[in-house]
Amino acid sequence: MPELRQNIATKEWVIIATERATRPEELVQPLRPTTEDRPEWEEGCPFCPGNEELDLEVMRIPERDPWQLRVVRNKYPALELEGERTRTFEGVHRQISGVGYHEVLVESPLHNTCPALESAIEVSLMLEAFKIRGREIAQDQRIEQIIYFKNHGDRAGTSLVHPHTQLIGLPIVPYSIRARAEEARRYFDDTGRCVLCHMLSDELKGDQRVVAKSKFFAAFIPYAALSPFHIWILPRRHESNYLNATAHELADLGGLMRRVLRKLYVGLRDPDHNYVIRSAPLHDLGPEYLHWYVTIVPRVTRSAGFELGSGMFINVARPETSAAFLREVDED
Ligand SMILES: [Zn+2]
Ligand SMILES: [Zn+2]
Repeated sequence: MPELRQNIATKEWVIIATERATRPEELVQPLRPTTEDRPEWEEGCPFCPGNEELDLEVMRIPERDPWQLRVVRNKYPALELEGERTRTFEGVHRQISGVGYHEVLVESPLHNTCPALESAIEVSLMLEAFKIRGREIAQDQRIEQIIYFKNHGDRAGTSLVHPHTQLIGLPIVPYSIRARAEEARRYFDDTGRCVLCHMLSDELKGDQRVVAKSKFFAAFIPYAALSPFHIWILPRRHESNYLNATAHELADLGGLMRRVLRKLYVGLRDPDHNYVIRSAPLHDLGPEYLHWYVTIVPRVTRSAGFELGSGMFINVARPETSAAFLREVDED
């Protein structure tokens, strides 16, 4: 019989197909050109060396050419950098001016790479650059929440293939983040524990959904994962704010993220995916009960009307089977 499982941290329910579950091998992506099949440099690409739009540049590492990584303002930003944050509430219409940050982190001068193909040091550099930008943006009192996210491939919503990750600094805290924070606070009030610390220690005890571990982090497929190969990477040290991660931790996380993304790349043939760094709201850090983490969501199946109608998901792959499959993939 299928099982309904609930994630105790998010309260989200999922139907896990058990009997007619899809085997991991069936979710391997079809033969098609993958990231490494692209040219190393492309004439029309705004992120390739020689084509840089310098007026949009925010920072680069190193400062002298050749650069390894650049941060630029998004040419078509979702939010405007300049302006006041104003609120207007009129009857049922509620509005806040669209001020905020929308930046793009160009991860490499190479057009045909992605973290799965890079070195651990390169992935760590990206995480460090986000911390530098995040710390600066956090000083801006108009900003309440920073979202760090990666779109890789068509089905993950990417528009430019050159390896890049984005950051949006929002003038509000989105509802889903606020709802999760409230659940975490309630759990802490009831039990005296951080829900993600509890979940992590439980996953590490059982080991059946663990994908990979490092000194400071562990990657696992949650018990109630919403989709196949949906992975959470949690810091072992309790901390709510990504911007407080230490240099040692980010160096270690770079290595683990590379390993996990490489398992997906090799095992599922460069699947389209998103990943997100989930960190606490800037003005409401919830230091005792919120816990930052990275989530990776491969887009190997499509969601549809049921998800829209119920807010629930159907996961066609058992988390335990998916984790065992990924553990076996040799990423080296
Ligand atoms: Zn390029
Ligand atoms: Zn915790």
